[in-house]
Amino acid sequence: MSMENMSGGTMAESRSEQSQGHISRSAGSPPPPEADETIIGLEVHCQLDTVTKLFCACSTDYRSDGPNTHTCPVCLGLPGALPAINKKAVEFALRVAKALNCEVLFESVFSRKNYFYPDLDKAFQISQYDKPLAVGGYLVIEGEEGEKRVRITRVHMEEDPGRLVHKGGADRARYSLVDYNRAGIPLIEIVTEPDMRSPKEARRFLNKLRATLEYLSVFDSEKEGSLRVDANISLQPEGWFDREKKSYKGRNRVEVKNISSYKGVEKALTFEITRQRNVIRKGQPIEQATRHFVETQGITTASRSKEEEQDYRYFPEPDLCPLRVSSWVERIDLPELPDARRARFIGQYGCSPNHARTLTGDLKLADFYEKVAAQADPVLSATWVADTLIGELNYRDMGIGSVTPSHMIELVTLVKSKVLTDRNAIEVLRTILDGILQKQPAGTPSQVVARLDLGATDSGIIPAAIADVIREQPQAVADYDSGKKEAFMFLIGQVMKKTKGKADPAELNTMLRKALDGRVQ
Ligand SMILES: [Zn+2]
Repeated sequence: MSMENMSGGTMAESRSEQSQGHISRSAGSPPPPEADETIIGLEVHCQLDTVTKLFCACSTDYRSDGPNTHTCPVCLGLPGALPAINKKAVEFALRVAKALNCEVLFESVFSRKNYFYPDLDKAFQISQYDKPLAVGGYLVIEGEEGEKRVRITRVHMEEDPGRLVHKGGADRARYSLVDYNRAGIPLIEIVTEPDMRSPKEARRFLNKLRATLEYLSVFDSEKEGSLRVDANISLQPEGWFDREKKSYKGRNRVEVKNISSYKGVEKALTFEITRQRNVIRKGQPIEQATRHFVETQGITTASRSKEEEQDYRYFPEPDLCPLRVSSWVERIDLPELPDARRARFIGQYGCSPNHARTLTGDLKLADFYEKVAAQADPVLSATWVADTLIGELNYRDMGIGSVTPSHMIELVTLVKSKVLTDRNAIEVLRTILDGILQKQPAGTPSQVVARLDLGATDSGIIPAAIADVIREQPQAVADYDSGKKEAFMFLIGQVMKKTKGKADPAELNTMLRKALDGRVQ
């Protein structure tokens, strides 16, 4: 599915370099590999969330159904069956192209990419080759040094192949089965220029891309296998990589294929950097190669040598007309996208830039926050949703969909009105989330507060608690008198314990200090 060699015209160069082996430097000793620049480009395949497949009327909703139940002569590649393009898929792809600031070409052409593999029933994949749907866009991401544009080389449409099921696991399978339910699901491939400089930037690009596609309502990241990434990576001495001309004057690059999770991309690239550094340190050349990411072990392994583009014998698909859809683009209205929504969150709700970025980085999270902010203090809601809730959800491996906005509205309101201290509010939240996780609902925040007796009492009980603690802890009080700061924190802790965490920490702090300093000694 790789097309990167077409646009840059660098294949001949890199091949001749490979034959020369290690590149010699003109002067001085080579810098240590740690000083190298990491050069990363991505090819991202996303399933478009249409109702039917790209070239037939089979349903795309196959995940919970038995194998080979969503098939027909077209997606099974039977002789004589003719493909017909899904208009909705084209519209979805155009939305993506427009949101990624690409130029939609006047004419794009479907081509047959010929190769044999059991999951490819026709022995060719209908894809786009020399005339893709769109070219030359960009996506703005939060880079290591502030905002940066990652350039998009091309966006093209193609069909997904079927799926192999290895019985007994990929390593030890005694036989494999083929499921063609996935065959013909519409994909878009988004190819970037090698503009990312760290695994973290690659991950941020993917997160931003995912958010953008979800805002466009063309993609569902929660569907298993809906996103797959090929990443190419090389380490080049600083300044050797010519950004604009895209020529690899330095070392060869490695392509890591078929990474199927967002975290996996960062892991695979981090592993590759270490591996390539070790090879360079030994003075050996980096071979231009394709490697596979083994998700379970977090490593990449060598795989078959990569086919060259000419091996695929691309030719125009004779059963489909060229697409002329560039004029359609103007009529496509894009919804509010993540950057615009982030700016609005800052302006409308007074969110901090960081909170706004977190909250708008996921469509469902952004929708959730807006429901909470409509009925509770928006700034306090931003803190509680973006920091506390996300942290607690991640810890439990839960998604935002498992909580209802009404619970969060109530919780934030209880904090705002000082019925709950921050500490006890977290306790309430944890109780609710654990309840959801164990399928034993804990009730509303108010119910939890009442049941666990976590509501703040009036500050009347604090003086009594302070007096008790001062009487019970003469040693800590003496330490405080002699200027030991830890003693004060210890005493605060003791009073907290007596008030069951219901006292407002700031108020408690002031009152305890007053009580200690005001003692007649
Ligand atoms: Zn079909």
